Amino acid sequence: MGGIFGIVSSKRCVEDLVLGTSYLQHRNHDYCGVGLKNGGELRDYTHAGLIKTIFTKNYLDSLEGNWGVGAVSNYRQPTSEFSKFGGAILCFDGRISNSDFLKNKLLNRGASFSGYRSPEQVSDNLLISKIISNEPSFEKGIEKLTNVMEGDFAILSLAQEGIYASRGWGRKPLVLGKREEDYAVSSESNSFENTGFEIVRDVEPGETVLLNEKGICSLAKLDLSPIKYGTFEWIYSAYPPSVIQGRCVADVRFNIGEILAKKYPVNADVVSPLPNSGRWHALGYAKESGIPYEEVFVRYDYSDRSFTSSKQEVRDKEAKVKLIPLKSRIQGRKIVLVDDSIVRGTQMWNRVLRLKALGAKEVHARIACPPLKAACRYGYSIKENEDCIATRMDLNSILKKLNLDSLRYATVEALEEAIGFSREKLCLECWGL
Ligand code: SF4
Repeated sequence: MGGIFGIVSSKRCVEDLVLGTSYLQHRNHDYCGVGLKNGGELRDYTHAGLIKTIFTKNYLDSLEGNWGVGAVSNYRQPTSEFSKFGGAILCFDGRISNSDFLKNKLLNRGASFSGYRSPEQVSDNLLISKIISNEPSFEKGIEKLTNVMEGDFAILSLAQEGIYASRGWGRKPLVLGKREEDYAVSSESNSFENTGFEIVRDVEPGETVLLNEKGICSLAKLDLSPIKYGTFEWIYSAYPPSVIQGRCVADVRFNIGEILAKKYPVNADVVSPLPNSGRWHALGYAKESGIPYEEVFVRYDYSDRSFTSSKQEVRDKEAKVKLIPLKSRIQGRKIVLVDDSIVRGTQMWNRVLRLKALGAKEVHARIACPPLKAACRYGYSIKENEDCIATRMDLNSILKKLNLDSLRYATVEALEEAIGFSREKLCLECWGL
């Protein structure tokens, strides 16, 4: 999973570019980078690590440009490419699951990937650039891409004429913003709040737009049905203030919590989230149930977000250290523990073990989505179907294994109601649907 941001400004945009990109840091911690257009020159700057530690004030002072794109990602990007269209700097969020097939097809037709020793090393960015540059225009290149690829995407490309922004079938969010004469585009509107941009609208699935000094121009709108929005964005991945397809992430999570409380009430002393991702769901549960909201675990702010690491063992290890129990709030109490999802169950098992060891009378889990059953094919982190506890056990066995007093999951109907889209519009593949 990654985050991409772009800005077209009448003034120097470096600070806003880095700030806007940094508000996507929760989407990935591995690499960060920006690409800038300074006059006619296009340059990219990519690094391993967190954006705020890399792009220091001195570093920013050395950069120039009025237009730029930025990315946080699990590999080095943005990437620069030169083709018949001239120079371009590309950012990609998504996954091309048949990328090896497509790379080999290009190689068999005589294409080359200079600087690489095998097709596996070639980034999806380069593959996309090659596919696009074989077509008569950027938007025709995107059309070609959607005809040959499997997966989903959001793409930004900084070129001499502006920033192209394209979205695939809808699983990867992309939203447009405006601030006086400046324009921005981002994976999440979270980037806009403190940079002074207002949401204009989402880039629609299948659409390509061009942002430049003239404004936002829609260049093409492909019919990519079925359109599927990334349901997990609302449940876990996106940051709470973000608005995706007109639905605020925090509001959706609150709604799910309320629905869980109505459907699965429990006699308890306290409702607590597993912070941070369970927080808004828990607030909704507490409000609807009337049970006081407290946090029985405190999240240690200097630990990494566990879902962004690609290795489950690393995530489990990080998860173990990131939450510190608040002993005085646990002993002798019946606790409703609310979380976004259960993958392998090891994290929930650990938490329940801690709570019971510290004297919790009962622990009831309320989960904000149905049991996860399948790996995501679109770039989110569950790698294998077998990683999911719900593929191996039924509800009763999970309940016993996790040592819970009760366990209830939100249903697809609850997600439809909370998000406000029918299931036909929602990607439900990681729930095996
Ligand atoms: S399979 Fe799940 S995580 Fe992947 S895009 Fe669909 S809803 Fe999101």
